[in-house]
Amino acid sequence: MRLSRYFLPVLKESPRDAQIVSHRYMLQAGMIKQASAGIYSWLPLGFKVLRRIEDIVHEEQAKAGHIAIQMPTIQSADLWRESGRYDAYGDELLRITDRHDHEMLFTPTAEELVTDIFRSHVSSYKSLPLTLYQIQWKFRDERRPRFGVMRGREFYMKDGYNFDLTKEDALHAYNRHLVSYLRTYERMGLQAIPMRADSGPIGGDDTHEFLVLAETGESEVFYDSAVTDLTFGDRDIDYDNVDQCAAVMEEFTTKYARTDETHDEALFNEVPEERRKVARGIEVGQIFYFGTKYSEAMGATVQGPDGKPVPVHMGSHGIGVSRLLGAIIEASHDDNGIIWPEGVTPYHAGIVNLKQGDAEADAACEALYAQLTNAGLEPLYDDRDERAGGKFATMDMIGLPWRITVGPRGLKNGVVELTSRKTGESEEMAPEAAVARLV
Ligand code: ATP
Ligand code: MG
Ligand code: MG
Ligand code: MG
Repeated sequence: MRLSRYFLPVLKESPRDAQIVSHRYMLQAGMIKQASAGIYSWLPLGFKVLRRIEDIVHEEQAKAGHIAIQMPTIQSADLWRESGRYDAYGDELLRITDRHDHEMLFTPTAEELVTDIFRSHVSSYKSLPLTLYQIQWKFRDERRPRFGVMRGREFYMKDGYNFDLTKEDALHAYNRHLVSYLRTYERMGLQAIPMRADSGPIGGDDTHEFLVLAETGESEVFYDSAVTDLTFGDRDIDYDNVDQCAAVMEEFTTKYARTDETHDEALFNEVPEERRKVARGIEVGQIFYFGTKYSEAMGATVQGPDGKPVPVHMGSHGIGVSRLLGAIIEASHDDNGIIWPEGVTPYHAGIVNLKQGDAEADAACEALYAQLTNAGLEPLYDDRDERAGGKFATMDMIGLPWRITVGPRGLKNGVVELTSRKTGESEEMAPEAAVARLV
């Protein structure tokens, strides 16, 4: 992409109404624009990162054997009456009446609709296990939308639903989700710690939230610092292997890590004092096992091996896709702007032309642009006729991992400058060497 032809409305001034750094930088970098309280338009740069995060979620769900569908955002209230949640959900549920006086709602989550799909089409245990998921816009009429995309009213969420014959099978699905979530967050450069949590309006007994530690997080968390040493890394996993998934679950959830809702002071005090941490975290996902709560209420049964109908065991599993942008920025930034982890960066490298219009500099930039593009990377070329200082400030704000600076003086010596956004370190090298370093 060439900046002269892009739409990147970077703000000169830091927006005053944004209280936390991720919100400020997303506005300043021209990623989002507020449409109304807690509702945002996604401008090109923000939309691109959103898509990259979404792609990672899809890829990791596919590896776990989960199947993507798409359900509507507007649903009939009837199904929600069946489950009993139409009245129970409260003011976060946005209720809508259509021209025929039908009561509708904007989906805050989709247990009812997916259960209806299941009961309409699946009748035998032989079709199980089955996990369906979607990535779709949700609406919750939050009392206090704030912090930009962190607590929006409209937000983008991955929600998955497993259907299993037995509790054991459903717990395997639970573990499978835990593993796939660990991998998903790590690919985004994040450490998200599974913590025992409370199930809230979804209901159920078993649930873990995934929390990214950050001072600006809305949840208070209590944990054994040893949990922060755990990483999933690039180990192999066979998602069909029940013991293997259970072992990962055990490894990542045995040490003390809880949100304030389930915090147990006595248990916490058993952790050696120097490892006892009280901090704040951002909830970026949650997994639930809730048994037959919805399948019984809505008649989602299958014929078991003995021919008798059994209600299926279910769970649901969410990732806050749009919230993740805020969480990643909270975890990775400096005073000059965002520092995107390689896994989610909107563009792989920025090319800064220090003297636009200089034949040699222009040609060198074009060559770099072509070589990076041909190698399968996406560069962002700042080809505007602007001062170098302004170009650098823009690149720092939008946080691409690498910057290649090209100017007539360097080119006389056959070099360009390659700068890491993270460390700030620069190195001079031949243009070909810079390309080789990035691919
Ligand atoms: P919170 O405790 O922050 O209100 P939740 O527990 O109500 O979140 P879930 O029902 O668990 O949310 O939804 C799954 C995920 O969707 C959450 O883990 C979070 O990452 C994301 N999410 C929930 N509410 C919002 C929101 N208002 N804005 C952005 N993301 C959200
Ligand atoms: Mg909530
Ligand atoms: Mg929560
Ligand atoms: Mg939750």
